Amino acid sequence: MNVLVTGGAGYIGSHAVKLLVEAGHKTVVIDNLDRGHREALDARAAFYELPLCDTAQIVRILEEHAIECVMHFAALAYVGESVERPLDYYDNNTSGAVSLLKAMRAVGVRRFVFSSTCATYGQPDRVPIVETMAQQPISPYGWSKWCVERILKDMAAADPEFAFAALRYFNVAGAAADGSLGEDHRPETHLIPLILQVALGQREKLTVFGTDYPTPDGTCIRDYIHVEDLCQAHGVAMDALKPGEARFYNLGIGRGYSVREVLQSAQRVTGRQIAVEYGPRRCGDPAELYADSTKVQAELGWKPRYTEIDQIVATAWNWQKNHPHGYDR
Ligand code: UDP
Repeated sequence: MNVLVTGGAGYIGSHAVKLLVEAGHKTVVIDNLDRGHREALDARAAFYELPLCDTAQIVRILEEHAIECVMHFAALAYVGESVERPLDYYDNNTSGAVSLLKAMRAVGVRRFVFSSTCATYGQPDRVPIVETMAQQPISPYGWSKWCVERILKDMAAADPEFAFAALRYFNVAGAAADGSLGEDHRPETHLIPLILQVALGQREKLTVFGTDYPTPDGTCIRDYIHVEDLCQAHGVAMDALKPGEARFYNLGIGRGYSVREVLQSAQRVTGRQIAVEYGPRRCGDPAELYADSTKVQAELGWKPRYTEIDQIVATAWNWQKNHPHGYDR
């Protein structure tokens, strides 16, 4: 298939491009390189540096490459930043998607795979989280993605040929198994890369955000899904989409690990001691989030290959120790 990937220079988008290219799809990337890395671009994919708001240019790219499906990863994704700068989130994430969808409509591209998030569920009343549970985001980031899901539903209702899959990610982690791509966020706020920066001596210690949660060891529990498994699910969803379909899937491995368990895993994988300090809770962190991923497994036949935290951390460590300064060196 001819696929346009937005955000193909970002963490998840770059892994998706690699997988698509290797599966034989003709892949085209657009990215504004605001948060993505030029070095993460795949030389086998055509690249256009451009913002999502440039509808006219996207129309030209869709036409020129006879695009059949769009995978939309480009977005801002810091919850805290979204609270401080909500308009930037609605502008990039929501209006950006509208611009892209308008370009698709102009050309008649009607297959869309969307990076959504478990943040659209907010603070769920129970776990595991099933797709049918109420969505009540608690941050502008979550709402900015929720709005796109809403828009997609309305588009599918208006156009019987339009098909989309909204994939609600849990905690995406790890790096390409061949070591060619990895995670390089600036600033880094995610648990696993931060722990590995401590292991590398780049950071003095990890601050554990809260030890008094109602979980077995008092720290938060999250569902860590390997980035390659996640991208694989995008490919399967893209292939499965039939005109008129609206599909929603949670993407997690279906079990959670606590912050302490992730720390222990990193100590096993790196063979290094990781200094820790115990701090207060981080505002807005639910105690426990993990997916019920039965739906995607049953309907798409997708299964995560990485189900043990040590395997996921090992790929992240392989990348980080070889690229201690990310894509710069
Ligand atoms: N966390 C932590 N210390 C840090 C960063 C994260 O204790 O320096 C915890 C955080 O409270 C959450 C988990 O690690 O329970 C995963 O956080 P991350 O920011 O990676 O992802 P989130 O679940 O917020 O999307």
